[in-house]
Amino acid sequence: EVLKHIETVEPKVKAFLSVTAESALNTAKQVDTKIASGESIGILEGIPLGVKDNMCTKGIKTTCASQILANFVPPYESTVTQKLKDAGVVLVGKTNLDEFAMGSSTENSGFQVTANPWDLARVPGGSSGGSAAAVAAGECVVALGSDTGGSIRQPASFCGVVGLKPTYGLVSRYGLVAYASSLDQIGPFSRTVEDSAILLNAIAGYDNYDSTSLKVDIPDYTQYLQPELKKGLKVGIITETFGEGLDSVVAETVQKAIALLESMGAEVKEISCPRFRYGLPVYYMIASSEASANLARYDAVKYGVREESEDLLNMYTNTRASGFGAEVKRRIMLGTYALSAGYYDAYYLKAQKVRTLIKQDFDNAFADVDVLVCPTAPSTAFKAGEKTDDPLSMYLSDLMTIPVNLAGLPGISIPCGFDSQGLPIGLQLISNVLREDVLFHVAHAYE
Ligand code: GLN
Repeated sequence: EVLKHIETVEPKVKAFLSVTAESALNTAKQVDTKIASGESIGILEGIPLGVKDNMCTKGIKTTCASQILANFVPPYESTVTQKLKDAGVVLVGKTNLDEFAMGSSTENSGFQVTANPWDLARVPGGSSGGSAAAVAAGECVVALGSDTGGSIRQPASFCGVVGLKPTYGLVSRYGLVAYASSLDQIGPFSRTVEDSAILLNAIAGYDNYDSTSLKVDIPDYTQYLQPELKKGLKVGIITETFGEGLDSVVAETVQKAIALLESMGAEVKEISCPRFRYGLPVYYMIASSEASANLARYDAVKYGVREESEDLLNMYTNTRASGFGAEVKRRIMLGTYALSAGYYDAYYLKAQKVRTLIKQDFDNAFADVDVLVCPTAPSTAFKAGEKTDDPLSMYLSDLMTIPVNLAGLPGISIPCGFDSQGLPIGLQLISNVLREDVLFHVAHAYE
């Protein structure tokens, strides 16, 4: 049914870079046989999954939506997809993204532009726009995305689905193509908070192959899903997120959502995070620096497409000049500049120091409240092409999600209403490190 549905809607939505119909049917048939023979099946067995095309899938093309990896077929499987395979999930395809996960609209893909299923003239958000759109359009039940500065939560908000960015280190990044290694984290897209908890149960946990993976016990996250809010739950509204640049309808809708939490018994108060406003410049300094180092590996020797040349240096430069898109080049140049001798202290090191101050704002907040709330994005989905010529206004889409990555915290976006044109609005909940239990608890009770 899902494959048929993909055939019908995919020409309009363009969420997938590849659809793995044959292997999907085979896996599904195996589950069918099990059911027919009366065997019991696991909760995720037979569930159709979409995977952002920056996670390695053995024998299946993994392009990061970049021309430079147009022909790359990984020889190994990422930990997350291996875990889900083991759980019996059916991979239906690899989803579109902004090239190397750099962007907020999925328009930076080197292959195609994905449409927002709620209004095809609008973007699905990014960079995991393909995964968000696929879940919203019913092309899969759940999907995986990666979130470096908002790439799960912002597209979830634009597409009216649930998107979770877990605590940094909770989910293994082994096999996730690196963008900015101190910020990247994999997480689920789903229609409901319950599905999000079920998927996190399956993908969280220590992995020897990821040196930043946390050695912690993983609870069953579904135990925190209850209809009522815990007594005495303290909710903090981040004052700074309701300032300039926020659409009035987003502000009103999120305020209503907060009022609902209050009517459910939550104690609500305002919390100031004064250093939040430095998040954007700090992020673009750190993320671009790390990206410039991570992307040095695309040298036409070890992976991907090669522009042949007699001369080695020309081979490198010609391949990189034609293989990378404009946004990726912009980040590599910015990052290389910031890391160069003489500038490192002024830019990269300074940004790391301010990052610590942003983390301190969150530490102070969580001494006072259990969960922070704010809009996920300053606006609803914008029109395709509207921000492509203005990188700065595109960067502003992540104003409210970026500080969460800088501090390594978990955050979830859940749908909380619509604007006057029927476009979904997202509510972001943020909790302290490894307190996904609080996020699921509050998000589920709200939902
Ligand atoms: N939009 C942000 C960027 O372009 C975040 C991307 C992400 O989270 N992968 O870097």
